[in-house]
Amino acid sequence: MHRRADQGWIEVIVGPMFSGKSEELIRRITRYHLARVPTQTFKPALDTRYAVTEVVSHSRLSTEAIPVATSDDLLKSVDDRTVVVGVDEGQFFDDGLLDVAEILAGAGKNLIIAGLDLDYLGRPFEPIPSLMLRAEYVTKALAVCHKCGGPGLFTQRVVQSDELVVLGATGAYEARCRRCYDPTEASQQTLDVE
Ligand code: ADP
Ligand code: MG
Ligand code: ZN
Repeated sequence: MHRRADQGWIEVIVGPMFSGKSEELIRRITRYHLARVPTQTFKPALDTRYAVTEVVSHSRLSTEAIPVATSDDLLKSVDDRTVVVGVDEGQFFDDGLLDVAEILAGAGKNLIIAGLDLDYLGRPFEPIPSLMLRAEYVTKALAVCHKCGGPGLFTQRVVQSDELVVLGATGAYEARCRRCYDPTEASQQTLDVE
């Protein structure tokens, strides 16, 4: 495929857990794939929740994916002929993902990166916020608040843990709106039980 002058940009899909980021990534990648535009999708090697070599949404949509440990590994794994590069769970990559995205966009590739913009304490979850500032297109997805049905923009941890990342624990998180979000809730629950 020839590189066209209008190719090479960064798209970012952000939002809390359950907001449909992976679904949207899978949808965008699949339509390129169907049109025979060469794509490659990557995921952090630590995310083995549903499958090792696939991105799988909570609604069980999936697309093939290459697990990589670092942003450097990602860069090295991109084929010359690839035009569209998908990345899921971008927040689990090192800050080098920012440079890698810029290098690939500069080389005429279209990046589609999905990831959490906020951690469970409501803090910026780098490198996603920085990527948003360097992206041509930003889509902010919302979930449905698990408590009241309102617009869910936060990820609420509902089990007690001081780890930034609690992976694969089903029922460990809920989407919450600004009224129902309370980052201290999990620790309070634990205190209540004790
Ligand atoms: P993300 O990648 O943002 O975590 P996914 O794309 O994996 O989200 O999953 C989105 C799907 O999650 C929805 O289409 C829906 O089937 C399911 N889902 C479960 N809980 C919720 C919720 N509270 N709000 C919206 N979707 C939810
Ligand atoms: Mg996801
Ligand atoms: Zn709510």
